[in-house]
Amino acid sequence: MCTVGGGPTGDLNFDERVKGKRYRCNECGEKFESISKKPVCASCQSEDVTEL
Ligand SMILES: [Zn+2]
Repeated sequence: MCTVGGGPTGDLNFDERVKGKRYRCNECGEKFESISKKPVCASCQSEDVTEL
């Protein structure tokens, strides 16, 4: 809370601290985090992912 003059995005920064769930892509094996209900692979954009 010691940042000053950061502009109107304070609440946005707070949202980014929310941890998503971890997933693994069944296509390429990439592991990634997503807060979306329909996560897609961060590497190949596949929707074929498994929650870890
Ligand atoms: Zn993938």
